[in-house]
Amino acid sequence: MADFSDLTLDVAKLRRDFPILDREVHGKPLVYLDNAATSQTPRQVIEVFDDYYGRYNANIHRGLHTLADEATAAFEGTRETVRAFLNAADHREIVFTRGTTEAINLVANSWGRANLKAGDEVLISRLEHHSNIVPWQLLAGELGFTIKVIPVDERGALDLAAYRDLFTERTKLVAVNHISNAFGTVNPVAEMARVAHEHGARILVDGAQAAPHQAIDVQAIGADFYAFSGHKVYGPTGVGVLYGRAELLEAMPPWQGGGEMIKTVSLEAPTTFADIPHKFEAGTPAIAEVIALGRALQWVGDIGLPLIGAWEARLLEHATEGVAGIEGLRILGTAPEKAGVLSFVVDGAHSQDIGLLIDQLGVAIRTGHHCAQPLLSWFGVDATCRASFAAYNTPEEIDVFIEGLDRVVGMLR
Ligand code: PMP
Repeated sequence: MADFSDLTLDVAKLRRDFPILDREVHGKPLVYLDNAATSQTPRQVIEVFDDYYGRYNANIHRGLHTLADEATAAFEGTRETVRAFLNAADHREIVFTRGTTEAINLVANSWGRANLKAGDEVLISRLEHHSNIVPWQLLAGELGFTIKVIPVDERGALDLAAYRDLFTERTKLVAVNHISNAFGTVNPVAEMARVAHEHGARILVDGAQAAPHQAIDVQAIGADFYAFSGHKVYGPTGVGVLYGRAELLEAMPPWQGGGEMIKTVSLEAPTTFADIPHKFEAGTPAIAEVIALGRALQWVGDIGLPLIGAWEARLLEHATEGVAGIEGLRILGTAPEKAGVLSFVVDGAHSQDIGLLIDQLGVAIRTGHHCAQPLLSWFGVDATCRASFAAYNTPEEIDVFIEGLDRVVGMLR
């Protein structure tokens, strides 16, 4: 069994922050192992909603009254919290979106439309989530550029030699995830950024799975764009972040039009636009959610991402050892650099059936294609079971999962 004794994470104390972890499912204590889809929310974050709607709910930026001032200060304060979380150089580089998906669509529709044309090439990887594939396919259909795919090896790691060989003088953008949601592969994005920049290309990093598990430094990575979602990092749904280097955001045209994103609007002369980041934040944003995201990032910071990452690595080790004894089980995704994701199939047992039966034991795992169909089909499967770990999971929960899996597989095979 993996040894946790050197880690200072007080998991019992930390779990008390999560009311949902006390609930039962089918009469059994909940064992929540679907964290890559969405993480649970600590009460400190839940309380933000009571506080906001109970005390200072008001539309931001335009108001001159006290409530509007307080809401604006809390909202803009979160921009600084996110800047520090990503180690961005300037808070103006932080754009609030609905999530990773909207952040990528923003880059595609604003930067992409302004910078890509027929004959150009965009590199994505076979590891991508559909949200970092489909926006580029939609745009390629309109503009006529080509999408080239960085291949993976049999472990689910990107083939970096092949990556280098894909570049031509027409390569304009690399769009790649930092950590794969389906397999947990950690990609060497700093090295990939260096290669992209050597060829004069930009790089967008989908950090949806990285933000909850390791400290992010967009400057050290050299990312031109970096995206993540609140709901995977102990925050609420409906909010996410696009980081973009200031000079790029400044040169980009607006995407959505409306209130908040303008300087002046005229029916007789051209409308002028707000400075970054507000140029990209049309309409009333998810104010409470943004403030709650800030609280979630503080909660994460109080524990420390290096400790969270180390804890989850130990959980992964424990789970990987545990499933090794289950007959017919095959792990997909065995890259040397992996985050807390265990994806597997079992010969003779359908993933869906495993997921349904293990839920009866209170254990929540995800089954399906994980929005990564090109990756799964490459590995010859259309679904896997995926257990994914968070700071509040315990070795004992992993044991419940392994025992449950063993029982369920025994019933199905
Ligand atoms: N990219 C990756 C790697 C993801 O795991 C996810 C969520 N599963 C997304 C993008 C999309 O995030 P959201 O649905 O929050 O926009």
